[in-house]
Amino acid sequence: MKFDRPAISRSRVETDTHTAQEYARITRERVAYLDGAERAERVADCTCPMCYKRSRVGGATCCEAPCGICRETIRSGSTCVDVVCRACAKRAGLCRVCGGDSEMKMRRKGWNLSKPDTGELPGEVGDATD
Ligand SMILES: [Zn+2]
Ligand SMILES: [Zn+2]
Repeated sequence: MKFDRPAISRSRVETDTHTAQEYARITRERVAYLDGAERAERVADCTCPMCYKRSRVGGATCCEAPCGICRETIRSGSTCVDVVCRACAKRAGLCRVCGGDSEMKMRRKGWNLSKPDTGELPGEVGDATD
């Protein structure tokens, strides 16, 4: 396959350099969060180091989806709706945004994924007699 490519201009180099600089800045910030920067704020935000303060690009439509644990409705101003609600994220030690472990660790004992009121696990349907 053959692509056409316009000649590179000074402004194009400036734009691409700016984009690379911005990407480097964001990467450094992310590394700092991975190294524990703003940990207290991040824990209060119920997010993991990769999701904390991440810009979430989504359609600008009010959306809602059930929490992956308690099934309460989570509302969002965009199509990016959290995976679990804040209360469940905190209780289970999960990131509310991506649904992974809040410290990005594999826990040998697993996570508390049971519903707070019934103790039922997500995905379990009906009563526990079967
Ligand atoms: Zn929940
Ligand atoms: Zn996350």
